[in-house]
This record gives sequence, structure tokens and C-alpha cells, in this order.
Amino acid sequence: MDSNRTGVLTIVATPIGNLNDMVPRAIQTLQSVSLIACEDTRHSKKLLNHFNIDKPCIAYHDHGDRQTIEKLLVRLESGEDIALISDAGTPLISDPGYRLVAQARNRGITVTPIPGACAAIAALSVSGLPTDSFLFGGFLPAKTGQRKTTLNEFKPATQTLVFYEAPHRILETVTDMVEIFGQQRQGFLAREISKTFETFIQGTLSELQQQISLDTNQQRGEIVLVIAGAEEKTATTTVSAEKVLKLLLNELPASKAASLTAKICGADKKAMYQVALQFQGK
Ligand code: SAM
Repeated sequence: MDSNRTGVLTIVATPIGNLNDMVPRAIQTLQSVSLIACEDTRHSKKLLNHFNIDKPCIAYHDHGDRQTIEKLLVRLESGEDIALISDAGTPLISDPGYRLVAQARNRGITVTPIPGACAAIAALSVSGLPTDSFLFGGFLPAKTGQRKTTLNEFKPATQTLVFYEAPHRILETVTDMVEIFGQQRQGFLAREISKTFETFIQGTLSELQQQISLDTNQQRGEIVLVIAGAEEKTATTTVSAEKVLKLLLNELPASKAASLTAKICGADKKAMYQVALQFQGK
């Protein structure tokens, strides 16, 4: 170990089901570091054994574990390379690691990723819903009241929405989504991605709700929900209202044209009347 060199903290993604999705650089990195910080050491030992990786492991959680964070940072500062893995997928994505990475960065330690599987991105990529802009909501609150409040906050978002959900709550959550987002919003359920029972269900929220309640297999395993964003409200309402108004003014008096435009376009009648007078040069 070079005592002048600070160690590197590598955030290593691991498979979300199929071990063949482990990338070669992840294996090389885990074989070369001094220590592997794991969400659950017993769980990770199975993965590490599979790839003949025999390295010391330490359990790491973001909460209530200041001593472990400090221990890891001191070892990094003394030149040891450390990897962080979680039970599955990309660490920090609804998994531990945020505090460690934030503090490592604050202390000038190099933090680098080995990119790989992430259930949210895998589900989004096959959902058929727009991918140019999306919001990742992680896990929704477990309690119905709080979950509905959160869903109401997401309701007007026009971006595609991505959530993780536990199998025993999937029906309740989709039912709440039907109530808050409406029956006709498009949704996509991705279950057990890359595993034997990989299943995808596409449809309106009400169709999803029906399938999940009729087929209890859909209430098992690991699940990602991808939901279409709200339809964009036309920012051009005023412009199109003005167009309608102009056409009607060719045939009708200003007050009648304004009141019809207000009805057709949902615009304000008085405002339309003022615009009508302007058009007439009054
Ligand atoms: N860090 C992980 C990642 O990068 O996807 C996510 C960890 S989070 C604790 C676990 C949740 O991810 C599961 O409850 C499920 O919602 C989703 N998930 C993980 N693996 C999955 C899979 N194979 N298929 C569908 N969803 C999965």
C-alpha cells in the first residue's frame, strides 16, 4: 500500500436477479479492493462466493452507523481501496450508501462507479412509455394516507413516473393510483426482471388493477411500476382562443364572439371581450 495515496471508494452495481449480468469490471474491482462494504454480508457472501471473490466484508447502513462510516473513511484516507455493494442492483438507489459517498466526497476521497443493473432503469427501458424525462419516486410511503398525499404531489407531473413497490402492497398502491391518477392513465408493471418468472403487464391503471387482483402471482416477487406522466396542458390556450375569437368576430358581435370563445376554449369571458375590442380597434 502506498501511504501517500488516498484509497478509492468504488460503488459497484451487482445483478438484480441474473448472475450473468455481473459485469467483468465489477468482478475485477471486488477482487482487488482491501474491503467490501455490504448492505447484508450474509446475502453478499453468496454472490462473492459465486465469483470466487474472497475479501473481508463489513456491514454498512446509512442510518445509525457513524462509527462504520468513520472507520471506512479512515481506511480510505490511509490508502486502502474499498468497494460498496448492496443486496442487488446499483447501491444508493433505494439502497444504503448516500452518507458514505457524501462524506467521502467532502473529505476529497475519489469515488467512482462500476455501472450495472438498476431495476428502475431496466423497467423504464422496456415500458414503452416516454423515457426522455422521468421522475424516480423510489418506494412510496407504506401507509395509505401518506401514500395518497405523495401520489397527489406526483399527479400533475408530465414526466414518466417510476416507483419501486413491495409485492404485498402492490394491489393497494395500484388501487390508490387508480383513484388519484385516474383509471385511464397508462401504467406498466415489471416483475422479477431477469429472473425465471419475469413478467410485464402493460395497460391502463384500471386494467393493471384488475389483472393484479385476479392473478395473485402478480402480487409476488420484486416489482417496478412505471406510470405515464400527466397529459401536458396546452400552453397555447390563449393563442388558440385568440384564433377562435378572430374567426367568430367575422360573423358575430364582440360580446357574443367573446362569450362563445370563453365556452369553447375555457377562457375568461371578460378577458376575451377586451381582446375582441382590441381586434376591432376600439
Ligand atoms: N438498488 C436496487 C436497484 O438498483 O434497482 C434497488 C434496491 S430496492 C431495495 C429493491 C426494489 O427494487 C424491489 O423492491 C423492487 O421494487 C426493485 N427490484 C429489484 N430487483 C428487481 C427485479 N429483478 N425486478 C423488478 N424489480 C426489482
